Amino acid sequence: LVILGIETSCDETAASVVARDAEGRGTILSNVVLSQLEEHSAYGGVVPEIAARAHVEALDTLIEQALVEADCRLKDVDAIAATSGPGLIGGLIVGLMTGKALALASGKPLYAINHLEGHALTARLTDGLGFPYLMLLVSGGHTQLVLVRGVGDYERWGTTIDDALGEAFDKTAKLLGLPYPGGPAVEKAAAKGNPGRFNLPRPLVGETRLDFSFSGLKTAVRQAATAIAPLGEQDVADICASFQHAVSRTLNDRIGRGLQRFRALFPEVSDPALVVAGGVAANKALRGTLDVLCTRHGFRFVAPPHVLCTDNAAMIAWAGLERLAVGMEPDALDVQPRSRWPLDSKAETLVGHGRRGA
Ligand code: ATP
Ligand code: MG
Ligand code: FE
Repeated sequence: LVILGIETSCDETAASVVARDAEGRGTILSNVVLSQLEEHSAYGGVVPEIAARAHVEALDTLIEQALVEADCRLKDVDAIAATSGPGLIGGLIVGLMTGKALALASGKPLYAINHLEGHALTARLTDGLGFPYLMLLVSGGHTQLVLVRGVGDYERWGTTIDDALGEAFDKTAKLLGLPYPGGPAVEKAAAKGNPGRFNLPRPLVGETRLDFSFSGLKTAVRQAATAIAPLGEQDVADICASFQHAVSRTLNDRIGRGLQRFRALFPEVSDPALVVAGGVAANKALRGTLDVLCTRHGFRFVAPPHVLCTDNAAMIAWAGLERLAVGMEPDALDVQPRSRWPLDSKAETLVGHGRRGA
């Protein structure tokens, strides 16, 4: 089976061709990603209107490139998979409409994919992971701990009640005068800083519910920065290190509880695994924390390669392949994009509905 995947939910325009053999092993035949980072960096964040226009300009060429690199034509693919939510509605419209047009023109079935499902199933493409497992998604728009039970069967155990973790990194960077995107800049500065200089809050640590909260941490960073302004280079490094340390301790507590809950729920699973996804998964300090935590709890720590952790179309194609392989029906061509679409809602069985609340 071979699928063409399309991803346009945020600030990456992406197309990919992925194959799946009879044993369920995936092979990425092509994976083209065009980041719009430069178009947005002047604004310190993603501008929806700019993103939508950039998707329109780039998508057809990228799809062609993905097909050429995979040495295949549209008539050779078994289906088309396009992200239909959640995300910025302008971009979603561009990608989903393109997917519909290609499906209509070629007579191939269309799978309207939940972007989060793409992230959730990636570890099965890269590491052949079996169900069930836990997935931590930490990106600019999402912070979720999800139980992945099977294709289309997800349970959200925890989510952020305010800022996403990547957003907290970006806002902290902005506050300290570091460049956008903030994650890499904060990580770099933190490497030279003293994590013990500022005692920043660790929101929700100790609570039994598995949610996250990062806006208080961001406020504490602002207060710390204001108190010692003007900031020297070492001050910035110390704040970044203290921030990253607080995040690390928070994840350690929240995810640790998640691993325990998984153990209690699935005592029969002999090799439990935690998968990370999302741009923040690039952070080496946080990866290290999770790695140690997993070892302590007897979990395998799975971190797919960076290009497959951040937004890409291979994960969308793969999610389509997984659906196709288990015999799930493709979507009707009147399927609508949804800016909000929680992974554990049963919304995917409803066709033709617009926005759905989270
Ligand atoms: P979505 O949430 O819809 O997947 P996104 O584009 O915001 O979209 P990604 O592209 O997966 O998400 O990740 C971008 C985020 O990852 C940014 O917030 C960025 O600051 C953060 N990030 C990238 N590298 C690092 C790092 N080394 N440390 C911490 N955060 C990082
Ligand atoms: Mg992105
Ligand atoms: Fe994403």
